[in-house]
Amino acid sequence: MITLSKISKTYTNKVTALSEITFEIMEGGVVYVLGESGSGKSTLLKIIAGLEDSDHGSVSVGNEIITGPSQNLAPGYDSIAHVAQDFKLQQFWTVRDNIGKKISHYSKVDKEERIRELLALCKLESHADRFPKELSGGQQQRIAIVAAIADEPDVVLLDEPFSNLDLPMKSEVRKEIISMLRALGITVMLISHDPAEALAVANSIILLRDGKLEQMGTPEEVYRNPISFYAAKFLGPVNELSVNKKNELIRPEDIRIVSSGLYEGQIESTTFMGMHYQVYISSKLSSKALLAYSSEALKRGQSVRFSIA
Ligand code: ADP
Repeated sequence: MITLSKISKTYTNKVTALSEITFEIMEGGVVYVLGESGSGKSTLLKIIAGLEDSDHGSVSVGNEIITGPSQNLAPGYDSIAHVAQDFKLQQFWTVRDNIGKKISHYSKVDKEERIRELLALCKLESHADRFPKELSGGQQQRIAIVAAIADEPDVVLLDEPFSNLDLPMKSEVRKEIISMLRALGITVMLISHDPAEALAVANSIILLRDGKLEQMGTPEEVYRNPISFYAAKFLGPVNELSVNKKNELIRPEDIRIVSSGLYEGQIESTTFMGMHYQVYISSKLSSKALLAYSSEALKRGQSVRFSIA
């Protein structure tokens, strides 16, 4: 569906944003693009959308070869929607008109019908005649996304769509939007800073590091079989210890505090996290205390036994 072959991009200020990015994404499903700020995520999405030129390599989406603004009078493609991080709804237009603008080539009847359908999709039927300033941040985001998919694109690219929402609202809006897009069979590629969100929602994860593809895989693959310490750490906390002169990476949840445990240690610190206690265990295994989770309260200084899965 989306194929990139050796895509590289250096901006005029000599900043290399992407180097030799190659991957393939199957149709349908949700792909999360993760990486530190400046790792090239936005540039990647803009190149796929045809909104930025690449220096080398090729991109195709479906049967279409994607070219950038230097080769297109009107950059972008009808089959690929791109919602920028700083998306702007027209402040002086109603919700209805903000969506309608995207399908101005529809007949009046078809347009009204499509707008109704889209507002039902994002559960904002009763808000058609409101102005953007009369909507919450999350509602505005939902409208921006349904406006982007109004003309039935095959692919939607979302640049940090949930970043300016506060936490409880974020997970709700995220779930609604993603399940809506999934149900429509649209291929979704989105940028996020939140690895927990990516693990929970994505069909596959693309991790960028300094403009290079560090790893791509399903959430389980990337979390369980990271190709590097960097990838391991990016997706969640990890302990690094050397066993027989070999470096091993161990997730905190793989350290089990049980009386039959093979190893012994002492609780160095403990923090109540709500769902569990986060503890650091000092032991002979490592010079650094090991991070682990405990369902029971443990005291500082207490001796424990643990095993490693
Ligand atoms: P991310 O989305 O991961 O934060 P970006 O793709 O925005 O990364 O940027 C990658 C690198 O390219 C950064 O170093 C950034 O400063 C640089 N960059 C992005 N856009 C431009 C631009 N229009 N001109 C010059 N440099 C840019």
